[in-house]
Amino acid sequence: MALLDSGFLPRGNPCGQCGTPIPRPDWVESVPGRTSFLWFCRACDYRFEAIAIYEEHHPDSLAA
Ligand SMILES: [Zn+2]
Repeated sequence: MALLDSGFLPRGNPCGQCGTPIPRPDWVESVPGRTSFLWFCRACDYRFEAIAIYEEHHPDSLAA
């Protein structure tokens, strides 16, 4: 499964407090099955985390 591999990065996530778009995560932590993104808004000093969970053990025969 290469769909959500390390090349996947969310961008322009709006701040949960003031709504300012944040260009990219401040910190990314990747473990098998999920990736954690730590966002930090420099406009209002708000910090929040977003976690992307995806199936790692799902056998996918569509992989070309
Ligand atoms: Zn903010």
